[in-house]
Amino acid sequence: MALSDLNIKGKRVLVRVDFNVPLDDNFEVQDDTRIRRALPTINHLLKGGASVVLMSHLGRPKGVSPEFSLKHVVGKLEELLGQSVKFAADCVGDVALDVTHNLKPGEVALLENLRFHKEEKEGDEFFAGQLAENGDLYVNDAFGTAHRSHASTAVIAKFFPVDKEFGLLLQGEIDALSKVMSEPASPLLAIIGGAKVSSKLAILENLVDKVDRLMIGGGMAYTFVLAQGGQVGNSLVEEDMVPRALDILKKAEAKGVEVYLPNDSVIADTFSAEANSQNCNTSEIPKGWMGLDIGPDSASRFAEAVRTSKTILWNGPMGVFEFEKFSNGTFTVAMALKEATDLGGYTLIGGGDSIAAINAAKLADQVSYLSTGGGAMLEYLEGKVLPGIAAMAE
Ligand code: AMP
Repeated sequence: MALSDLNIKGKRVLVRVDFNVPLDDNFEVQDDTRIRRALPTINHLLKGGASVVLMSHLGRPKGVSPEFSLKHVVGKLEELLGQSVKFAADCVGDVALDVTHNLKPGEVALLENLRFHKEEKEGDEFFAGQLAENGDLYVNDAFGTAHRSHASTAVIAKFFPVDKEFGLLLQGEIDALSKVMSEPASPLLAIIGGAKVSSKLAILENLVDKVDRLMIGGGMAYTFVLAQGGQVGNSLVEEDMVPRALDILKKAEAKGVEVYLPNDSVIADTFSAEANSQNCNTSEIPKGWMGLDIGPDSASRFAEAVRTSKTILWNGPMGVFEFEKFSNGTFTVAMALKEATDLGGYTLIGGGDSIAAINAAKLADQVSYLSTGGGAMLEYLEGKVLPGIAAMAE
């Protein structure tokens, strides 16, 4: 089954989207990527003669809080859709049903922030049933929350025993990830960077069984350098993770996985954009200094490995790319991903910071796929079953 198999003509389709977009101080949408990525599904449903009821969360409100209202998103949604959108000031009860039960084919409604009700995150079944009253059919197009067992992302599915489907975005995400994980052209390279060492070790533990090449950069790398006996000065490390890092390196060696760690680093005397900086050997970082980027030698070695790989997965920057002085590694790898794509490789990028880096390098449309899910993507790569995906099969 696919979205195109659903009989939608004249039906109200309740769609879980991810409109968790950043707002500026005037409550204007700062980055509309997530809204744009939901448009294919919405337009498909409207073209097929359905009416569309959209539901989402926004931010992390504690109860009802006007600054997290989804009404801030209505204007941008109307602009992108090219039609008016009705807004329901609550996502359940009469306030919602008054709007959703009076929708005509071709019309669109947006429900108020799901997380104004604590039952959403609790996965409350009664609340999920109330949400379900807003639609005849259910479509899940929110990959960014597919790893959560919330009322609108997973529990609600049981109220639509037959009439439910993934949206085009979520299906595209599943297709892209399974392409990388189940039938990758080799060499398959995973590039993992960023700062969340402990949470990303689980992914490395799973990936080491599947990849031909493993590249570790960013703050992550220093725990591995420490594990190998190097001196990392004041670099970011999670010492209690050293045994797990060693296990990963041992497993990689046993499996013949090529591991890429930075041999040189750009080091800084403070964590700031204006810090004094110099290049040094990654395993000889003096006290008082910290590695904030992979060094030039590592960057060109990493780029060469990227260019010669056929399937590449990237999550997490190679350094503190938000500071220009420490952005070379991340941008060099981003450019190499573009080149690998030009050479016929398949490149999949996920996680907010990697996407921001690809956007800043103006390469977003020159790689194969940008995932909208950071956490969801990582859990998928860890080999976990995502509740939002599993619920659709039940
Ligand atoms: P994550 O959320 O784990 O993907 O981490 C992303 C963050 O890691 C970015 O904000 C980077 O600035 C930060 N980061 C990357 N490299 C380093 C490093 N060497 N030291 C400290 N933070 C880093």
